[in-house]
Amino acid sequence: MSFNADDFRDLDPGERVLMGPGPSDVPGRVLQAMAAPCIGHLDPAFLSIMDETQGLLRYLFQTENALTIPVSGTGSAGMETCFVNLIEPGDEVVVCVNGVFGTRMCDIVTRVGGRLIRVDAQWGETIDPDAVSHAVKGKDPKLLAVVHAETSTGVLQPLEELSRIAKEAGALFLVDMVTSLAGLDVALDRMGIDAAYSGTQKCISCPPGLSPISFSPAALEVLNNRKTPVISWYLDMSMVSNYWGGERKYHHTAPINMVYGLREALRIIAEEGLEARFARHSVNHRALVAGLEAMGLSMLVAEGERLPMLNAVRIPEGADDLKVRRALLGDFGVEIGGGLGDLAGKIWRVGLMGHSSRRKNVFLFLSALETILKGQGVKVQPGALEAASSEYQSGD
Ligand SMILES: *Cc1c(COP(=O)(O)O)cnc(C)c1O
Repeated sequence: MSFNADDFRDLDPGERVLMGPGPSDVPGRVLQAMAAPCIGHLDPAFLSIMDETQGLLRYLFQTENALTIPVSGTGSAGMETCFVNLIEPGDEVVVCVNGVFGTRMCDIVTRVGGRLIRVDAQWGETIDPDAVSHAVKGKDPKLLAVVHAETSTGVLQPLEELSRIAKEAGALFLVDMVTSLAGLDVALDRMGIDAAYSGTQKCISCPPGLSPISFSPAALEVLNNRKTPVISWYLDMSMVSNYWGGERKYHHTAPINMVYGLREALRIIAEEGLEARFARHSVNHRALVAGLEAMGLSMLVAEGERLPMLNAVRIPEGADDLKVRRALLGDFGVEIGGGLGDLAGKIWRVGLMGHSSRRKNVFLFLSALETILKGQGVKVQPGALEAASSEYQSGD
């Protein structure tokens, strides 16, 4: 093999407006922070950066939990971290499933050797707490797991009832916050959540690569009282926490520049403030839905159960899923997501996550979609932009 430099041009991925199910747009400040010099993972300067990052993560998770760190890996690594650390072979584990990510949890539980108790709901609907109560009756579950924001369907799962059921059953309450963290109120301590994981590329608006997690004192106790070693060496929090905690003992090399990026993304979040950030996600969502409905399109999820950061809209009669998405990307630089599983070809998933949740993106997307649908001969009603506009004027 010979190398010819002319075969490899300068890297140029182009610019996009990321309005899919993640990643979301990354602010320039975050990219700039990631370009800072790479220093050692035990350098005192980096240790301070780690401490600050943990402090900012506790602010975002609204928790005092000591074990609050970014796991090296994407959101799925955080998911796996929670299961491998908190359950042992033979443990009963309740998993609520109403989309792709609940299904993924079941896969992990089975691989870890847990005894799976699965509670299903229709994709596009919330989990019924009564069904969960029924499923745990007479059982002794170690853990109850649920996805807060099901990115595959756009459903927002209420957590209060499930938290209470977990406590009554003596189980730890584990919540997937990959899509909800930094876009929805997720106060870990107040909501009685024992373990949570997230990802950097959704509402945190940092590139993918880290998975913030947090374990409550009750979860730590379960971890510390295990009879068997954690089956994953890399994700074993009893060792990783020695590096992030007091002893600073080397376990694996931290992804230094990713941590810089996360710290900056968290700083941006803290500057905006949680309340303001949640309100921004909410108003942009309402404007988008108003615009889509004015065009004559309909949402998959019932009102009141919708995620503000991920909008699942039914593909209208006569529209070609792929052709529309290709035109959005090719002609407007806008990325959105298609449907998964049974919903493939039936819905589009329009993300308004973190830095992507902006008024100008709502208007860009509505006008681009209207233009494309009309161009492809699909009937749409007029007035989308006016409907979106009036949402912004009605307060908030
Ligand atoms: C994206 C996502 C994941 C998986 O995260 P990756 O970063 O793709 O590994 C898990 N759960 C939910 C709800 C998600 O949206």
